[in-house]
Amino acid sequence: MQIGVLALQGDFAEHLVLLRRLDVQAVEVRLPAQLDSLDGLIIPGGESTTFGKLAVHYGLVEPLRQFGQRKAIWGTCAGAIFVSKDAHRDQPLLGLMDISVARNAFGRQVASFEANLDVPALCQVDPDGRPYHAIFIRAPLIEAVRGQAQVLAKLEDGRIVAAQEGHLLATSFHPELTEDTRFHQYFLQLVRSRM
Ligand code: GLN
Repeated sequence: MQIGVLALQGDFAEHLVLLRRLDVQAVEVRLPAQLDSLDGLIIPGGESTTFGKLAVHYGLVEPLRQFGQRKAIWGTCAGAIFVSKDAHRDQPLLGLMDISVARNAFGRQVASFEANLDVPALCQVDPDGRPYHAIFIRAPLIEAVRGQAQVLAKLEDGRIVAAQEGHLLATSFHPELTEDTRFHQYFLQLVRSRM
């Protein structure tokens, strides 16, 4: 299995470290041809408008869309915005997941926060069902989940922060910044299901 991490900008290095800790072959991806050898792709946190500009510049938008038709993609934070259909702004998006997002919905950088989430789906990788400690940094909110997309996790007040649509995953928070590998393991399961 080989997993790519989109390395145009943002915190791709942290995802690579975590994947390698799980003994997964993980590589940085910057060019369309690099998608050919991958079984799955992570789009990290960063700045979604920058991802959009660079992806257009490097001719990545259409190849990424095609990749996401067949293989697993996981967008974390800015990556979740980039895989969505609608971010209420004119910016390049992959439009792979039938979700709409509100960027910076929790406020500015200083309003970053951490929260314990109940994520029943993670019982598939670890049956103990303990809460998942999530880190939100100028995070987007997943405002609406439509069609085949489903809610994976909510904050206590009911706001959606993780969603799944088949082999596609979106999380508002940053699992690569914690020691808890359950979300990465969950994604690897989705990858395997498409191999
Ligand atoms: N605020 C960023 C955006 O709108 C996302 C922040 C992040 O990825 N930590 O793209």
